[in-house]
Amino acid sequence: MRQRYILALDQGTTSSRSILFDQDAAIHASSAEPFEQIYPQPGWVEHDPEAIWRTQRSTAERVLTEGGVSPADIAAIGITNQRETTVVWERATGKPIHNAIVWQCRRTAGICDQLSAEGFGEEVGKRTGLVLDAYFSATKLMWLLEHVPGARERAEAGELCFGTIDTWLLFNLTGIHATDYSNASRTMLYNIHDLDWDDTILARLSIPRAVLPQVRPSSGVVAETTAFGAPIPVASLCGDQQSALFGQAAFDPGDCKNTYGTGCFVLMNTGDQPIDSNHGLVTTIAWGVDDTVEYALEGSVFIGGAVIQWLRDEMGLLSSAAESEEVAAQVPGAGGVYLVPAFVGLGAPHWDMHARGIITGLTRGSGRAHVVRAALESISFQSADVLRSMVADASAEIPRLRVDGGAAANNLLMQHQADVLGIPVVRGQVIETTALGAAFLAGLAVGFWPSRDALRGVWQADRVFEPTWEPERRDREILEWTNAIKRSRLL
Ligand code: ADP
Repeated sequence: MRQRYILALDQGTTSSRSILFDQDAAIHASSAEPFEQIYPQPGWVEHDPEAIWRTQRSTAERVLTEGGVSPADIAAIGITNQRETTVVWERATGKPIHNAIVWQCRRTAGICDQLSAEGFGEEVGKRTGLVLDAYFSATKLMWLLEHVPGARERAEAGELCFGTIDTWLLFNLTGIHATDYSNASRTMLYNIHDLDWDDTILARLSIPRAVLPQVRPSSGVVAETTAFGAPIPVASLCGDQQSALFGQAAFDPGDCKNTYGTGCFVLMNTGDQPIDSNHGLVTTIAWGVDDTVEYALEGSVFIGGAVIQWLRDEMGLLSSAAESEEVAAQVPGAGGVYLVPAFVGLGAPHWDMHARGIITGLTRGSGRAHVVRAALESISFQSADVLRSMVADASAEIPRLRVDGGAAANNLLMQHQADVLGIPVVRGQVIETTALGAAFLAGLAVGFWPSRDALRGVWQADRVFEPTWEPERRDREILEWTNAIKRSRLL
């Protein structure tokens, strides 16, 4: 009998979810479960790795039961995960030696400052495509090896395993210690040109090779798992943002996606060429399929949908995030009001940690609807700033922008995004693009889908937003926005 589903395990920062996709890439069933966020000190964030595995496994079991699907009906499992979060465990027992250090955790900022002061940032950029920052796994692993008694010696002796969350889940599912190219490229330990762990960085951070996982293709059977009964092949591993790019069927150079969540993550496929950024974007491996690696440029907006949360929770202007669309639609435009949500400084391409939020252009006639509209527009203006940097770095035009994430449901925001960019914005039918990407990668590996062309065929648009502004209007709006950004940096 032909197996009918792919099971995607989507391990996120605040919840674990499992989704069953059918041959048409439609969701058959899904299940999610949150887990505890641990804040041992201000600026520090940890997860319990056992809780991650427990919630991931229980959502997978639940989705099978609730979907009325037996493990024998699953062609493959695909894994996608919160990136950079770092776990170290005992190879012999599978027991973690410490909580996972989460990507958001700033405990190693001091180490990074020191390494930067010593001029190591340039080496890091050249080798890994990243900026030297506490966000990536390298200094988190270094911290664990330094602070857990005996860890470095045990790591050198091969008794410990390091992994990002894909690796942790794979180890629990199959006993194999491996990661994929996309996750490896976020560790700040991986040379994205040589496609190997980087000896210079390992030596500088005193990280033994023996602790590192093998690097595998993002799409390909690693092993079978019997965690759910009958054996099922685990056939893909991919970091969440790269997986979303794949789930958008953004397979060609120049293809771009933006995920509108708490922040926004913009990725552009740059094909087999890693492109260095002159605008503070990072270069990353999109995925490795067969023996070919493809690259992406990535930029993020720190405060995206979170500005709407802020209007709701702190300012009391909205009762729900979704209400923002209806309120903003009460006025034809923001009436010259600009809101720059630089609550935690500004990311790419401005990189100003000292900028702070502002609202400009207020008049006696400005009201709630104008402010809400300006807040929504700030999400698309900031995303457009990142996209313009990508266009400049890649010297390529972007034909269209594919969108996903919670705030992509907002039609007014998507229309403004198309207007500001002057290109169509395409929203897919499946909003769970991250999980869909993992399913696509796994499905390709086992022949569930025969080719990327077949995936292009099953990928369905929900709605296309066409740009409506004349170029003069677009230029004027961007100029006003840029002036507002300048003011936010003078505070
Ligand atoms: P994350 O995965 O980062 O938690 P989601 O993809 O679930 O985020 O998106 C949630 C974010 O999107 C929240 O910040 C919320 O304020 C915003 N959001 C959700 N729905 C809408 C909407 N209809 N309009 C505008 N913003 C929205």
